[in-house]
Amino acid sequence: MIASESQDAWTLFLEYVGEKCSATEFTNWLQPIRVVSSGTDKVSLEVPNIFVQEYLLDNYKKDLIHFLPLNAAGQPSIEFIIAEQKKKPSELYVPDSPSMKTANQDVSQGSFHGAAYLNPLYTFDTFIEGPSNQFVKSAALGVAMRPGRSYNPLFIHGGVGLGKTHLLHAIGQYAKENHPKLKVACITTEGFINDLVDNLRNKTLDKMKRFYRSLDILLVDDIQFLQNRMNFEEEFCNTFESLIHQNKQIIITSDKPPGQLNLSERLIARMEWGLVANVGIPDLETRVAILQYKAEQKGIRLPQPIAFFIAEHIYNNVRQLEGAINRLSAYCRMMGLDVTEETVEKSLSELFQLAPSRKVSVDNILKSVAIIFEVKVSDLKGESRSKDVAFPRQVAMYMAKELINDSLMKLAAAFGGKTHSTLLHAWKKISGQLVKDDMLRRQIDMARRNLEA
Ligand code: ADP
Ligand code: MG
Repeated sequence: MIASESQDAWTLFLEYVGEKCSATEFTNWLQPIRVVSSGTDKVSLEVPNIFVQEYLLDNYKKDLIHFLPLNAAGQPSIEFIIAEQKKKPSELYVPDSPSMKTANQDVSQGSFHGAAYLNPLYTFDTFIEGPSNQFVKSAALGVAMRPGRSYNPLFIHGGVGLGKTHLLHAIGQYAKENHPKLKVACITTEGFINDLVDNLRNKTLDKMKRFYRSLDILLVDDIQFLQNRMNFEEEFCNTFESLIHQNKQIIITSDKPPGQLNLSERLIARMEWGLVANVGIPDLETRVAILQYKAEQKGIRLPQPIAFFIAEHIYNNVRQLEGAINRLSAYCRMMGLDVTEETVEKSLSELFQLAPSRKVSVDNILKSVAIIFEVKVSDLKGESRSKDVAFPRQVAMYMAKELINDSLMKLAAAFGGKTHSTLLHAWKKISGQLVKDDMLRRQIDMARRNLEA
C-alpha cells in the first residue's frame, strides 16, 4: 500500500488506472464506484451493481493490491456494498383502451402490434447454461431482478437461433412474476415500425408515444431491422432516451454488436451506454445438455453417445438442435423404433451440417485456419511461439476438438506431435475467448464454412 488513507488510496488508484483504460471504460465502470468508509485494514466501496464489482476484481485486482489494504490472504480488503434502489416502482398503468394492455396483463396486441406475447416456454429455468452463454444469462437475470438498476440498456447480440429471444422473454417473464407492478412490454422492431406507420396514418402518434414512454421495462427484439429506416430510427431513439432518462429498463437484442449496425452514431452510442453481451455458440458439452433437456421434455430417452453424435453434427444453432429432437421423436414414434445411431442417421441426415468424423481431418482444419489467418500450414504444425502463429494454432486445436471425434492424444499428434495437454489448454483458452470476442467467432465460423465447401 502506498497511501495510509484509503480515500486517498482510492483516488490514487483511479488516477493510476485512468491512464491505462479508455475514457468510456472509466466513465462506465470506475467512476460510479463510491468510497463509503475507509480504514487502514479495509475499504468499503459502493457499487451500482454486482457487475461493477466483478469487473473491478476481474480487471484490476493486481493494481488494487498495490493501492488498497490487504487481508490475511494477501488479497485487496474490500467490502462491496450494492447501491440501494433509489426509485420507487412506478404506479400500475391503467390502459385507456383494451388494445393498449401490456405484457403484464397478458394481452399485448391490438393497436400496438409491436407488443408481442411472451413465450411462456422461454424462461430462465428452461435456458441451459454453458461457457458460451453464462455471462449473458447472468446479466439478463441481473437486469430482470433489478430493472433500471443494473445495466441500462442491456444489449444482447449473437447469431441466429442461439437464444436471444429466449433470454429477452425470460427477462419479461421474470419481471412479470417478481415485479407485478411494473409495466412490461416486449416488441419486435418490425412491430414497432408497423405501429408507427399505423399511428402516423391515424394521427394517434401522441397516444403511441405516451404508451411507450410510460413503460418500466421495454424489451426490443431484433433491432437490426431498424437499419436503413431513417425516419423510424429517430422516433425509436427518442423513445429510448425518454425511458433511459427516467431510469426505465431497456433490453435490446440484435444479430450484431451495436458498432456493426448500420444505424446513426447517436443511437449506436446510446446502445453502448450499458452492457453489451454476446450469446456465443454453445460448446459440445452444452449442446449435449441442451439435447438431453429437450429430449426429456419430449419424453424420449436419448442415450449419451447418441446425444454426443447429434451434437457433433449440429453445432452452431440451438434451434436446429431442437428441430433434431422433434424430428427424431416423431420418426421413432411413427416407426415404433428406439433411438439408436441408425434411427438418428435415417431421420436427421439432412439436418447434419457435415459429418465431422468422416470428412473433417486435422489437415483440413489446418488448411482452412491457415487461409483465414494468413499463415502457413507448416508454421501451424511447427514450434514457433510467435503470437501470429501460436494463436491460429490454438484456434485450429479448438476446432479439432470440437469437430473431430477422436482421442485428444491422436488429435494433438496430428499437430506435428503436440501433447494432449497443449491441445486441451488451447481448447480452454479459445472457448473462453469466444464468449467475448465476436471477431474470433466470425473467423471460426468462416473456417468451418471453408471446411464444408
Ligand atoms: P435467437 O433469437 O437468438 O435467434 P431463440 O431465442 O429464438 O434464438 O432460440 C431458438 C430456440 O432455441 C428457442 O426455441 C430456444 O428456446 C432454444 N434455445 C436457445 N438457446 C437455448 C439454451 N441455452 N437452452 C435451451 N434452449 C435454448
Ligand atoms: Mg430471435
